Amino acid sequence: MNRQIVTLPHSRLRQRSKRVGYIDESIIELVKDMETATLDWEAKRQHEVGVALAAIQVDELKRVVIIRNNFDNKQDKSFQVFINPEIVKYDGDMIEEFEGCLSVKDIYGKVSRYTKVKVKAKDIKGKDVRITAEGFLARVFQHEIDHTNGILFVDRIKENPNAFYKLADDGKITELNEDERKNIFSILW
Ligand SMILES: [Zn+2]
Repeated sequence: MNRQIVTLPHSRLRQRSKRVGYIDESIIELVKDMETATLDWEAKRQHEVGVALAAIQVDELKRVVIIRNNFDNKQDKSFQVFINPEIVKYDGDMIEEFEGCLSVKDIYGKVSRYTKVKVKAKDIKGKDVRITAEGFLARVFQHEIDHTNGILFVDRIKENPNAFYKLADDGKITELNEDERKNIFSILW
């Protein structure tokens, strides 16, 4: 099936996804479709990398997340799959970094996240996995698990309009002017 990435204001992005009970053929297919959708999205963009995706971003309310194995090398098109992922422990400091999302077109934000998290999930074969993630990977897990709970990064910074930025045509992250900010807020909420 050819699935498209859905973007705000698509309302299902703010719904909670359902737990996966049994990993059957439909889940395997879903994961393949998510990988294809992410790579297709990336192929159309010069300045962005598709680092991860949650199933709701292809309009499927299931707790399935894929994360790229290599964030720095676009040629490595492999992903790891996390079924029913949850954060069991937050650790370290909270720091602000730029974050973007395939479902929030051209908008970036400075989002505060923990530098270290412990994650529990199942892999694609149904085996339990536990991961301690730090730095950027910890941020990616927090962003993606938020998606499974119907939360987008823009919802985390809604009260702080100065935390919003845009991706300019040359790939630089730049500040928004007052009109752009109003415009964007009307799309996001
Ligand atoms: Zn996202």
